[in-house]
Amino acid sequence: MGSASNSIAIHWFRQDLRLSDNPALSSALKSGRLLPIYILDEVNAEDAQIGDASRWWLHHSLMELNRSLKGNLRFYRGDATRILPKLAAETGAGTVSWNRCYEPWRIKRDTAIKEMLKEDGITVITENGSLLWEPWEILKSDGSPYRVFTPFYSQGRLNGRLPREPIAAPASISFAPADKYPETVDLAELNLLPRSNWTLKREPDWHPGEAGAQAQVRYFLENGLNGYKIRRNFPAAENRSRLSPHLHFGELSPHQVWHALSFKEHMPELDDDIGNFKTELAWREFSYSLLFFNPGLSNVNLQQKFDSFPWRSDAAALEAWQEGRTGIPFVDAGMRELWQSGYMHNRVRMIVSSFLSKNLMIDWREGARWFWDCLVDADLANNSASWQWVSGTGADAAPYFRIFNPVTQGTRFDPNGDYTRKYVPEIAALPNKWLFNPWEAPTDILEGAGIVLGQTYPAPIVDLKTSRRRALDAFSDLNDSR
Ligand code: FAD
Repeated sequence: MGSASNSIAIHWFRQDLRLSDNPALSSALKSGRLLPIYILDEVNAEDAQIGDASRWWLHHSLMELNRSLKGNLRFYRGDATRILPKLAAETGAGTVSWNRCYEPWRIKRDTAIKEMLKEDGITVITENGSLLWEPWEILKSDGSPYRVFTPFYSQGRLNGRLPREPIAAPASISFAPADKYPETVDLAELNLLPRSNWTLKREPDWHPGEAGAQAQVRYFLENGLNGYKIRRNFPAAENRSRLSPHLHFGELSPHQVWHALSFKEHMPELDDDIGNFKTELAWREFSYSLLFFNPGLSNVNLQQKFDSFPWRSDAAALEAWQEGRTGIPFVDAGMRELWQSGYMHNRVRMIVSSFLSKNLMIDWREGARWFWDCLVDADLANNSASWQWVSGTGADAAPYFRIFNPVTQGTRFDPNGDYTRKYVPEIAALPNKWLFNPWEAPTDILEGAGIVLGQTYPAPIVDLKTSRRRALDAFSDLNDSR
């Protein structure tokens, strides 16, 4: 190990694909010349392999990061427990740094790597780069984790726990020599880009990378924050930040978002909107706490009684849901938005997931898997916690009897039908009154709109009332049998 200025500090980028407010990167820069690396580790990921839409995002985000690092980012593919210690040994690095991740498989892997590096006499720096509060910082007075959101958030906001100020981007970076390090591959060789062309549609809407993330925050603060509290429920409105993929890949930190809001805090008329937006950021924190303390969150019902719930196996219905052909327009609009853009509005996510797990009585894990593959913001904590919340199996879940009615939800939250018409154009000519329930429309109205149910647009695959009853009966049987 040489002096700090001569020695090499490896920073391992993972879910922190940014230079600003990157605590572990800042620490590494104090320890030596930077060797920035990214490892696509599909060996240890087990059943949490990155989904297709996220792979697309990751590819572009890494390209942007490499540009910011002036082409110095080294890419690796394979088992990080083998690659990282070997690279550290071969380069003579004195320090290895990373920001912590919270997926169970990553915790297991990173703990093992840390041990190996330490045994080799290498300094390991790990920091919190992606959460406002570490899961172990927000606990009940008896030391156990919260299972309910509201007290979790109150605890998080207690004095002294307010999120730290963001750290500025490094003014300059001294890189390790640009040698050809062993086993490096090109970004293209990570094979992140899908072969099918469905991804093309989503590209114009998104700008992966740190600059895109910061532009998106600015855009949201100017165009979406005012009215967020109410309008965030309306999928055709601009009042959602679309920051979720940027936060997931760590192209910006929640601290940066939290503090960006302070630029608007002198405007009392925005108090409710800011407060509400912060609450959403806190739901993300809560999901991470749930995942940390329940490593099986993506697979195991948090409420055990659901282990004997009679989920239906219905491949045709599952496929109709995935493809946005259920014949229930608001559900179909959401599923098509997902397929076309890699994103779905939060309210619509709640409606389509309730429809799958309750009206169709299909296991929430099937839905979570589909989301995982299609979302550019697919996130093990948020996705698993949200699916458990909606399907009623979660810790602080919506009560099982709360079954969203996609017709009343559509009428209420898409009152002009703009969102539904955009994604379900074949029924666009229907008047608003029948847009969300075309099966109830009089024949002449359907004819006038050029619709033949079952031909130009599907007839509903289930009756909303009877399927609701079926789900409630199954739930009450579950309670009775205990
Ligand atoms: P905004 O309304 O602008 O919210 C700001 C940020 O707060 C989001 O970017 C997100 O990081 C966080 N946030 C908002 N709502 C939630 C929530 N309910 N739970 C946790 N964090 C939240 N979010 C994901 O990031 N990844 C997922 O894989 C994911 N899967 C979901 C699955 C289902 C069934 C449901 C109902 C919700 C899911 N969510 C997921 C949560 C939420 O829908 C998205 O975070 C939100 O729609 C992203 O859009 P936005 O950034 O415009 O949100």
